[in-house]
Amino acid sequence: MTLWRDIKGTLQPFWITLGYLFQKPVTIQYPEVKRTPPPRYRARIVLTRDPDGGERCVACHLCSGACPVDCISMQAAEDADGRRYAAWFRINFSRCIFCGLCAEACPTLAIQMTPDYEICNRDILNLVYEKEDLLIDGCGKDTQYNFYEHAGIGVANERGRNQDEYGPVDPKSLLP
Ligand code: SF4
Ligand code: SF4
Repeated sequence: MTLWRDIKGTLQPFWITLGYLFQKPVTIQYPEVKRTPPPRYRARIVLTRDPDGGERCVACHLCSGACPVDCISMQAAEDADGRRYAAWFRINFSRCIFCGLCAEACPTLAIQMTPDYEICNRDILNLVYEKEDLLIDGCGKDTQYNFYEHAGIGVANERGRNQDEYGPVDPKSLLP
């Protein structure tokens, strides 16, 4: 019985290999032939814009806090109407493991993963992407979302102009 099991165990791999000899090869001749990855494939990271063209990133640092390898850094700034933005934003792709946690953490949908996997480079310093390399002209995966339409811009601005924002309240109207 043990002998039969050993013979079977020895021959079975050869039988499986023989079966594959007559199947169509699955090797793809990259880079002449390129596979189209699925839409949720996680590769090169981009910074996207609102439907009105404004930068979505509010420099909240949540993505850099979520990043397990600390490859995102930025500096926050604020413009005249209280809208925050990243004065500079940097991702070191030589350390990135494309886990997608930064995109999950982002409250404004600014940072998104794309299926563009062709970012290899011989010079490691060329894998450090600055904001101008990351910021694209479009909205990415969600073409309708506009963070500031929900959050408002700043306390200095007139309230009540955004979707989830109450208008100004006169405190005296609340008196009994
Ligand atoms: S994909 Fe992961 S490793 Fe890469 S920047 Fe985002 S959080 Fe960091
Ligand atoms: S990309 Fe998103 S999570 Fe990162 S700082 Fe900008 S708004 Fe915050």
